[in-house]
Amino acid sequence: MNDIAANLEFLRSNVPASVRIVAVSKTKSAEDIMAAYNSGQRMFGENRVQELQMKQDKLPGDIQWHMLGHLQTNKVKQIISFVSLIQSVDSLKLLSVINSESDKAGRITDCLLQIRIAREETKYGFLPDELMEIFQTGATVGMNNISIRGVMGMATFTDDSEQVRSEFRNLKSAFSRLKENYFHNDPNFNEISMGMSGDYMIAVEEGSTMVRIGSLIFGERNPIKKQ
Ligand SMILES: *Cc1c(COP(=O)(O)O)cnc(C)c1O
Repeated sequence: MNDIAANLEFLRSNVPASVRIVAVSKTKSAEDIMAAYNSGQRMFGENRVQELQMKQDKLPGDIQWHMLGHLQTNKVKQIISFVSLIQSVDSLKLLSVINSESDKAGRITDCLLQIRIAREETKYGFLPDELMEIFQTGATVGMNNISIRGVMGMATFTDDSEQVRSEFRNLKSAFSRLKENYFHNDPNFNEISMGMSGDYMIAVEEGSTMVRIGSLIFGERNPIKKQ
């Protein structure tokens, strides 16, 4: 068995079967992706439109591609025909463009609302109150070509596991508030995408339904360490 298959096997034995594993393959080669594919992996995540398009073009058609990175509205149309889940919806404008492009493509696109839970200022995403207001005002009413499946968030990159845990709790509680107030009749609103290589075990303990794992499956993305 190769390393990638072995890493996946380890991960699968380490998270409950109900938690989906998205293999984050950004910067990784088609060969690496095929090693994961051949061990049964079908969900892959990328964070750049061009890379996603190129890989989708040459890799097996039954791969479910997730978009994880910040998505510019003018690039939505390049991925809309094939993307399986857009996890990084971070503005109402983007949601609206995904809806109209999906309409043109004759499909309904699954989306997650990215919520900003980390301390870093640079991370994209909605604030929980901002989202409550969007749904309160009915701004998404009539967007019939999107299916909002849940939320996604990234914790602060830190060794302080209590801080990470509390950020994941904040994401879970934002999910629950949205669910209670605006999605209580919608069984499809059921995903909490949280947890990466360094913090997925905490995320699972805090209610993650989907973890996004890159380096733990494929190895470090940049082996040349800066001093
Ligand atoms: C790169 C990336 C991951 C995976 O990161 P690892 O630490 O390598 O597991 C997960 N989510 C998003 C949004 C990413 O950009």
